[in-house]
Amino acid sequence: LPYSDGDFFGFERQLEPAERERLQEVRGWLDKEVRPIAVDCWNRAEFPMEIIPKLAELDVVSPVRRQGYSNLLAGMIHAEFTRADTSIATFMGVHDGLFTGSIEALASEEQKQAWLPDIYALKKIGAFGLTEPLGGSDVAGGTRTTARRDGGQWILNGAKRWIGNATFSDWVVIYARDVQDDQVKGFLVDTTLPGFSATRIENKISLRTVQNADILLDNVAVPDEFHLKGANSFKDTNKVLKVTRLAVAWQAVGQQLAAFDVARRYSLERQQFGRPLASFQLVQDQLVQILGNAVASMGMMVQLARLEDAGAARDEQSALAKAFTTARMRESVALGRSILGGNGIVTDYEMAKIFADAEAIYSYEGTHEINSLVVGRSVTGIPAFV
Ligand code: FAD
Repeated sequence: LPYSDGDFFGFERQLEPAERERLQEVRGWLDKEVRPIAVDCWNRAEFPMEIIPKLAELDVVSPVRRQGYSNLLAGMIHAEFTRADTSIATFMGVHDGLFTGSIEALASEEQKQAWLPDIYALKKIGAFGLTEPLGGSDVAGGTRTTARRDGGQWILNGAKRWIGNATFSDWVVIYARDVQDDQVKGFLVDTTLPGFSATRIENKISLRTVQNADILLDNVAVPDEFHLKGANSFKDTNKVLKVTRLAVAWQAVGQQLAAFDVARRYSLERQQFGRPLASFQLVQDQLVQILGNAVASMGMMVQLARLEDAGAARDEQSALAKAFTTARMRESVALGRSILGGNGIVTDYEMAKIFADAEAIYSYEGTHEINSLVVGRSVTGIPAFV
């Protein structure tokens, strides 16, 4: 039988048997619950809220810290989510990676005990509010949202942009600059508080299913017990981003596997000049380029997951992973789109969605350029950001 599953070097065999079973279980779930609805939701730009209790049943939040799985399995699961649908993967990336990751890394033990059970069970949905209209790549210096201590509470004022899940989330972790010590602090903000509003960002051409919001904070009063006790400077925020950047690099792996799956299948079915597209040498070369990119990206991520498991992954390594895998991803989805010809630009054949969704992966969690500059600083000793 022709080889079909994208894991050309058999990286999955590095998982423990129980972990391989878990990956298979997640794959089966994605086939049943996500793939059949993915294109329709994307076309309508609607998030399928009914997926949330099903995700809760699958029990996928915090696989490493809570469930004791390896970072390799967590990464492979995230890639599989992306392979099925980038938007649902991003919903999880925000709720689990950015939001839950902020609580796990930066909340006090008492806060964790109070909040995490509902977060793990997806009874409370979370979002992560860091980026601002005027503070994107330069978010460390560009955080203008303010937090002012007022007795037993903090008063938050400002604006956030691009905040995933925030149109319907129960909580958002808001990062805001303390007017007293000028440091960026983190707060768990209940989205029903007076002065909080979230407006859906319309007309996206990428990740249309998952929702992003513009947030306004107008004198939102947050009790001090909702200040994350370990979030007291941007260095603390960065602890979360270091981990989630790796998850986005795993998304770039999943996106390439999706492009490979669709392009391979299509090239075997579609006939021109009396033969399947897959029989033409140029088309085979394009398929092999996608596969090579995907395998190289996955190899890099497998080694990084091992470093993470050993507690030895460095910031500049996750930056290189994000920069490298997303650059390969952009090549791969363009090749995939071209293999489908005209049908590559209509979502009916899935590839157009894969192609468009790749653009968000390329830009979020630190753009390709910013991650390159992080690596450039590391190899030259010269920061080239400004
Ligand atoms: P800018 O910073 O304005 O950059 C524009 C361009 O200039 C980019 O190509 C960039 O690489 C380049 N550039 C900037 N500075 C330099 C430099 N020094 N040298 C070279 N090039 C430079 N944020 C959140 O907080 N929470 C979320 O849930 C979230 N979800 C998102 C979901 C989506 C779909 C998107 C698109 C974004 C999301 N973001 C979120 C924000 C995301 O992290 C930012 O978009 C990203 O960091 C880039 O910021 P920016 O869009 O303001 O671009």
